[in-house]
Amino acid sequence: MKKKIVVLTGAGISAESGISTFRDSDGLWEQYRVEDVATPEGYQRDPEMVLNFYNNMRRSLFTKEPNEGHRQLVRLEEYFDVTIVTQNIDNLHERAGSHKVIHLHGELTKGRSERNPDLIVEIGDADIHVGDKAPDGAQLRPHIVWFGEAVPNIEIAAALCEQADYFVVVGTSMNVYPAAGLIHYVPRTAPCYLVDPKAVPISRPITIVQEKAGTGVKKVVDMILRDLMK
Ligand code: NAD
Repeated sequence: MKKKIVVLTGAGISAESGISTFRDSDGLWEQYRVEDVATPEGYQRDPEMVLNFYNNMRRSLFTKEPNEGHRQLVRLEEYFDVTIVTQNIDNLHERAGSHKVIHLHGELTKGRSERNPDLIVEIGDADIHVGDKAPDGAQLRPHIVWFGEAVPNIEIAAALCEQADYFVVVGTSMNVYPAAGLIHYVPRTAPCYLVDPKAVPISRPITIVQEKAGTGVKKVVDMILRDLMK
């Protein structure tokens, strides 16, 4: 049986694909207030503005390509049972070829019913407008987990972390909970690795590659494969 790897990714892994990160100084979010575009209250106040924010992001996603960081993680699948747990709402891991991707904060290419959070529909690159309906007749909204909303996949992700033989973190400031807390579920015996150009506070022994994902992920993948072959 293959050993298990869990890879937790954040906005940083998609930065070199041209998608802005959340908190870096050139971050997309500097132009918007989080309370306006990423909370249920903001959506209630101005649904058209919020829908357009995600419509623009969705259209832009289809002009971007996966980068070397996404692609290097696919290499691991030959030797490991790999699960990518991502905070990202883009689909660049899937487009790079990763087979098991769990999205903690939703997906831009899906919509869901305002009435029933479990009624999720594929929308691809289509816009959502006020008046568009989910199959249950309720208003369609982006399938995005906004601040203050439950993170439905967190239990699944925590259970996978408990079983991990290796744990890798790429491009996340470890500021957004509950995702940042997943590392505490990883067994003490499992080697952990972190790729990020900035210093990220982590409260357990971890091998740090302080580089961008485009070069750093390859180094970590090489280290893990060497370790496996020992
Ligand atoms: P964050 O913006 O808080 O942190 C990004 C991290 O990436 C930082 O530590 C930064 O140093 C690092 N980074 C910057 N460039 C990098 C590179 N080239 N290679 C590797 N690392 C790099 O992001 P987060 O912690 O993921 O915050 C999570 C929230 O942001 C989530 O809710 C997520 O949904 C949202 N978000 C997602 C996307 C996306 O889908 N691509 C983009 C922006 C924000």
